[in-house]
This record gives sequence, C-alpha cells and structure tokens, in this order.
Amino acid sequence: MMPSPILKQKLSSIDNKDYGACQMLLGTYDFNLFNLTIQQIPKDPYAPPHTGIYRIQARRDDPRIVALKTADTVQNIASADYLARAFFVAGQAICKGVRGTGYSGLITINQPGQAILERNSVIITDQIIEIRCFLGIPANGRKINAHLAETMFCEELPEIVRTTLLKEHIDYDRYINHINAMEDTEFLRQQLEEHDLVAFVANGAILPRESGTSDRPLASSGAIPFKAPEALRVDIELPHRGRISGMGIPKGITLITGGGYHGKSTLLRTLERGIYNHVPGDGRTYCVSSPQTVKIRAYSGRSVVKTDISPFIRNLPFEQDTTAFCTENASGSTSQAATIIEAIEAGAGVLLMDEDTCATNFMIRDRKMQQLVRKEDEPITTFIDRVRQLYAEKKISTILVLGGIGDYFDVADHVIQLVSYEPRDVTSEAHRIVETFPEKRMTEDATYPIQLRERIPLAGSIDPCNHYGKFSIYAKEVFRLNFGGETVDLTDLEQLVELSQTKALGFAVEYARKYMDGHLTLREVALIVKEDIEKNGLDVLSDRISGHFARFRTLELAFTLNRLRGFDVVQAGDQGDS
Ligand code: ADP
Ligand code: MG
Repeated sequence: MMPSPILKQKLSSIDNKDYGACQMLLGTYDFNLFNLTIQQIPKDPYAPPHTGIYRIQARRDDPRIVALKTADTVQNIASADYLARAFFVAGQAICKGVRGTGYSGLITINQPGQAILERNSVIITDQIIEIRCFLGIPANGRKINAHLAETMFCEELPEIVRTTLLKEHIDYDRYINHINAMEDTEFLRQQLEEHDLVAFVANGAILPRESGTSDRPLASSGAIPFKAPEALRVDIELPHRGRISGMGIPKGITLITGGGYHGKSTLLRTLERGIYNHVPGDGRTYCVSSPQTVKIRAYSGRSVVKTDISPFIRNLPFEQDTTAFCTENASGSTSQAATIIEAIEAGAGVLLMDEDTCATNFMIRDRKMQQLVRKEDEPITTFIDRVRQLYAEKKISTILVLGGIGDYFDVADHVIQLVSYEPRDVTSEAHRIVETFPEKRMTEDATYPIQLRERIPLAGSIDPCNHYGKFSIYAKEVFRLNFGGETVDLTDLEQLVELSQTKALGFAVEYARKYMDGHLTLREVALIVKEDIEKNGLDVLSDRISGHFARFRTLELAFTLNRLRGFDVVQAGDQGDS
C-alpha cells in the first residue's frame, strides 16, 4: 500500500500527457480514513463508468465511522443500499457541470432506483465497508488534466466518503428508518401466506408514478391515496410501524375492473413491483406481493424453445406439434401461452395480466364466436377456461385487469372495481349478474390437464463470445441485454427495475452454463445459481470485480435464458431424442 501523497506525485508526473498514462495510477493508496484501490481505469475518457473500478475500503471498527446495523441479511442489504444512495447523492452534489471530455470529472456509483436491492456496489462484511465507485479522470481532449484529478482524488472523493460514512454526517434517524422500512416490508410479505393473501396494498399508499418514464411517486398533491374497500380490509401489525390497514388480495382469481383511466393498470403495476421492498417515501413502501408473482404479457416476435403449450394451444394447422413448441417468431397468443408455461416451469405462484398487454384471442372466445367458429377449428383454449384449473391443480392464483370482458365474472372469486382510483368490492354484484344473465358461454376443453414438461438446458447452446470470438456481455438498457453476438430483447420482463439487474443476469446466464450438465432442469439450474449468490454474494457471477450487479430472482434468470435466440433444451424424459 502506498501513502496518498504518492498518488499526488504520480498525478503531477502525468499532467497533460496522453490518457493512456493514467494506467500508472493503478494500486492501493492509504487515505487514513479509507484505502483506495484503483483497480481498473478505462482506456479513454469517453468509456462509460462501468469500465472503471475504484474500491474504497474503510474499517468498521474505526470510531469515526457510523455503527451500521448488520445483524442479518435484511439489515445488511438495507445498510448497503442506504450507503450507495448516500454516496450517489454526495457525488452528484460535489461533481457538477462539464469538467472535460466524456466522463471527465465524474465521481459516481451505480445508481440505485426505487427498490432496496442487494447490489455489489457496496459490500459490508464484519470488518469492512467496501464502496465500488467510478471516478472519471479528467482530460481535455485526450490530455490528462492532473490538477483537477488531484482535487478529485484528494479533496472531493474524501469529502464524498466522509459524507457517506462518518457518524457526524449521517442522518442516523433517516438511516434507521430505511432499515426499519425494509424489515417491516419483508415482514409484511411473509405475513401474506398466513392471511391466505397474494398481495397487500396499504391504505394511504401513493400508487401513480411521476410519468411513464419515471419510477418516482406522483406528487402527493395530484395523487389520490389508496383506500381499501371494507370487505377486503386487512390489518397487520408490523414490528416497527405498528398496525397498518390495507387491501388484502386473497388467493384465487381476482378481477380488477372499472372504467378506462380509473387506475386499473396503476394498481396492477404496484402489484408487479410488490416483489421488491421500496425506499421510504416511494409511496408503495407497504405494498407487497408474493415473491413468486409474475407479470404475464403477450409479446409477439419472441422465440420459444421446445415448450409444451398444449394446455392452451393444440391442433395447429398442418399438425405442428405444440407439446414441444418451437418458433423464432411467436404470435401474440402463442407468446402469451409460452410465457405462462415458462412461468409455471420456473416456479411462479401468482400470475398478473393486464388487458393493455394481453392477446384478446388468448383471453376469451365469447358466446357468439363459439357459435360461429367450432372448437375443432380453434387451436386456442382461452385463458378463461384454464384460470380456475391453474388454481385448483397448481395452486397458482391469477389477478387480471379487464375493463371489457364481463365473462370473467364467472370465474373470479373476487371482483374489484376502481372508481376514480378508489377500489370497491363488487364481487356480489358481479356474481348476481352471472346468475341472472340468460346466455352463458360454454366452457371449453375442461379436462385437458395442465401438464408440465420440465426442460433441460444445454450449455453448448449458449455462447458468450461475439462474432470476433471475444467474450462480450454488457447492457446499456434495462430491457436489452447484449450477450455474445446477440441482443436479447427483455421487453416483456416487466418486473426488472434496474440496469444492474440486467447486467447481473447477463453474467448469470454465462455462470449458469457450468451447471447445465444435461440432467439438471432449467429451474434447478436457476436455483443453484441463486444459492451460489446467497452463499458468496453477487461477485460470484464474474471473475472480474464489478460494482454493477444487483439481485434478480431465479424466475428472471429462467426467463432470460428462454429469450436467448440460440438457446436449446431437451424435455425431461426425452434425452434420447436429440
Ligand atoms: P386504467 O388502466 O384504468 O385505464 P391507469 O392505471 O392507466 O388507468 O391510470 C390512468 C391515469 O391515472 C394514469 O395517468 C395514472 O398515473 C393516473 N392515476 C392512477 N392512479 C391514480 C391515483 N391514485 N391518483 C391520481 N392519479 C392516478
Ligand atoms: Mg389500463
């Protein structure tokens, strides 16, 4: 380890030199409060932040440093999340404006979103706190600006670290509130099962977001706070916050209905995101759903690999097999059918669907259509005829947003109507309408079982190398993963919330290959990867230290694999065939 004045000396020796000279700064320096390891410096000032790695390590037993609560995993994750946010904000406050070429003058960390997530940007062990950040060594053109660099390393960075870690700087009440909120939310999610619920939305919650592109809450002046209908009201005692009330959505089939623009999709979106714990002030902090909740949607054009979609689609024209259905270009309905089967295969417990993104011909064949087109001429068994079976046979609940198809009253256990953003329980009215309505649609194909043919992924079908044979996994957008030579479209994985999850998923796909031995199923492989991450942290996914990974579910790992174009599997019990 070098004393920090050495860094100053090195900097003055490279002033105005070509950017490549920065590489001589690599090494570990003692800044008294912390050690700085300059692990990796990008080759030019335009290279994006994830290409550089700066590790700050501080000792937890240093009396100047805040005493963190890390008694268990939840506290550890919440503490690290809090520090990452504090560092990000402090970095933004100190490094302002354009300070040279490209990313010159920037001190930042992987930007956290609205969810409290496990990430590897801040790692807290019993002994140390490690912060993995980025510092854009400033340059004019390609010439190093060492004076500004010195200010950044010797004044700004230590200031940001002090703001983040020092007892005297941390708003301790706010920090404790962050931890407590996560503990309460975790507790609340665990309580769902006990109350036979799949989701809970707290009274007073602010569900709408600032805009279609922002995950922040709509200003409370414009938002109607959530208020549970009396019939679905549930009270739960939280460890820190005490008793809260809200709407419990029971297991089974729930229909969310109501007029257009009355807040149906916004409520469903909250349930989608209820798999995450949100930061205090998000508006959805006490809105939770079961951890195995999966948003299902149609997404035409996606590929499907040897998936048994026969519970939904059989007897296609020209006798195409649907028990091991393959396509490079799924239609709306086949994509939705495949996504449901894949979700069940990966362990989904609750399905969420919104009319805005469903294929109509997958959702229902109404009475008139049943009269015109005979069932023999219709390959699709619509979801309305399977939704109860999914619950009865597989214990999978479904929550549907539908404003225009009253036939779903027949199959719903609960019907919630949103009226000007306020939910009402209209179950008995809906059921009364069902009883008095003269013409019923016929149930179709009720006896065909929802079987599951587990699939075994083949490692050889996954190639992390690009066309030049170079290892290449990266992501610049949440829903677009660049893996080897291909761009994997993750648009329909609507429950991803952070770019760092996408990055981690990319590396997890590559990491998972080693478990693809021709015997383990897709779900088993995804579960082993999860166990490895739980045991060894997110760092296990890559040989190189990164500060840009965040936690994802095994479900999303399975879904990502399913969306790789070259991905191949054999169906379990079928190994001999291929
Ligand atoms: P629907 O799916 O019923 O057509 P949306 O959920 O898309 O309606 O909501 C319509 C609009 O109302 C959106 O712009 C949304 O942000 C806004 N909105 C939703 N819930 C609330 C609320 N509780 N308070 C204020 N605005 C809301
Ligand atoms: Mg809608």
